Amino acid sequence: MVQKYARAACNNCHLRLPKPYLHSVTAKEQTGSSGWGYSLGRSVYGKKKSKGTSARFYSPRKRYTLKTRWYCTNCFVVKHPRVASSRGVKSKKQIEQEALKRERQIKERKRKERENRKKSFKRSKEGAVKLRSHIQEQIKKNKQKFSKSNINNINLGIQKLNDAIETANPFTGENEQRFNALNNRLVTKTKSLKSTFYSNCTNLKLKLLFSFWTDPWKWSVAGIILLGVLIS
Ligand SMILES: [Zn+2]
Repeated sequence: MVQKYARAACNNCHLRLPKPYLHSVTAKEQTGSSGWGYSLGRSVYGKKKSKGTSARFYSPRKRYTLKTRWYCTNCFVVKHPRVASSRGVKSKKQIEQEALKRERQIKERKRKERENRKKSFKRSKEGAVKLRSHIQEQIKKNKQKFSKSNINNINLGIQKLNDAIETANPFTGENEQRFNALNNRLVTKTKSLKSTFYSNCTNLKLKLLFSFWTDPWKWSVAGIILLGVLIS
């Protein structure tokens, strides 16, 4: 058996629907007023002694009644947005728009993530390549300052970094874990080549210069502290 529901018309678009598909809004509505008027007090007719007039004027009195109006979902969310949202009522259009918005937000977030990964990857790779050529240059220029085993150790570090540079690739979105692993390797090998060079460089001046080249900010901080000590 199909249950029959009473039908009502949407107050806005006059679409007739069974009441379960409509939304009711009950509100006080002004139904009219008693209009202007006046009355004369008894004193005018009665005791002549009384002074003044006691004529009374009535301002229009507003009358209200509770009235229930029905709306289809589309008109309800437009005409009474606050009531609709408090009842959790959304039109099809609203639901679609919200879904679209969410989709756009997700896309935007993913785009930003990709952008950040790209940037950080570029930074790591550039740093690795720069370090490699700097070290190669240092060795070439100061060959006599390194022992053969020192050079072998450093070359081994360079070789490892080369592998890491070659295998690391920009993130294409396919295998996140592999991307992270390869990029972490790049960062790790860069760091380890730094320390390999540092520990295999026995010349103090070269060591200091290298340290300054790799961490200029550290030296700036040290310089500022030293200056502070000298001034005070
Ligand atoms: Zn309607």
